[in-house]
Amino acid sequence: MNTIIVDLKWQSLAQKALQGECIILEEGLAVLEADNDEVLLLLQAAFQVRKHFYGKKVKLNMIINAKSGLCPEDCGYCSQSIVSTAPVAKYTLLDKDTLLAGAREALARKAGTYCIVAAGKGPTDKELDQVIDAVKEIRETMPLKICACLGILKGNQAERLAEAGVHRYNHNLNTSKANYTAITTTHTYDQRVETVDQVKSQGMSPCSGVIIGMGETHQEIVEMAYALRELNVDSIPINFLNAVPGTPLEHAGRTPSMKALKVLALFRFICPSKEIRVAGGREVNLRTLQPLSLYAANSLFVGDYLTTAGQDVTADHQIIEDLGFEIELNAL
Ligand code: SF4
Repeated sequence: MNTIIVDLKWQSLAQKALQGECIILEEGLAVLEADNDEVLLLLQAAFQVRKHFYGKKVKLNMIINAKSGLCPEDCGYCSQSIVSTAPVAKYTLLDKDTLLAGAREALARKAGTYCIVAAGKGPTDKELDQVIDAVKEIRETMPLKICACLGILKGNQAERLAEAGVHRYNHNLNTSKANYTAITTTHTYDQRVETVDQVKSQGMSPCSGVIIGMGETHQEIVEMAYALRELNVDSIPINFLNAVPGTPLEHAGRTPSMKALKVLALFRFICPSKEIRVAGGREVNLRTLQPLSLYAANSLFVGDYLTTAGQDVTADHQIIEDLGFEIELNAL
């Protein structure tokens, strides 16, 4: 196929996305199976969609691991799970001063959103009280949006977080429905969807994403994007597995950089208006191609992830400046 025909093919996906039409499965598979020589044309098409909704703005988010290790769940990718032998820090919920110090650090890194993440199936009411106490003070004293990621919520917990001023709640689908039991057996895909629905019903902004590289097929990747489109989440973190020694998926390998770019373009076509974040595993999977990811995605984590190191925050700021893009503060 010559370049002009290839370009028209990707442009037609951009046009569909801009007109509110969803691309079909065969088109999604074509994106994932595109020749590497076509990746720049593919990104150019995805960039048209990204630019339409977000211009050249990049949203930054910072994570704090508010409660680490000690998790009874068996998620195969996670170094904090009960089945992992990876050496991770183990501590109960951080105190208020430490959560506030993290918020100040988020501001220093020019992050608009501070993500408070706790390991575990879901929070106890006592843990929720502690998070709410910190959130209230952050909301009163700092120009930050707050995202909480505390696991499966029960009773009136979603309502209480919304009342306290939590803007967003993250609960990832992680993988496809078909692949779910190969990754986790201690809770279900449907429980994850229910939590996202609960978050929406309480008026918090729903954030839910995926981890690529856990044995899923290309068709399942397209299905994950369809599932998130259907759930109508506002924000989609796309993680690329960073296989940690000691976890069940330690030998899963990395996603090739070019494939990671195709995945990001795919999600932009299927979820055109959503905040698409290049999340965990960015550095080890995209490697030197990280800057290209921002032609499809419009959001990044800055700093470390939950148990793995990110790159220096100044390197991320430099990427954004070198692309001629701009950090968006306090957007949600
Ligand atoms: Fe526990 Fe969350 Fe890790 Fe699963 S992903 S093992 S629920 S900390």
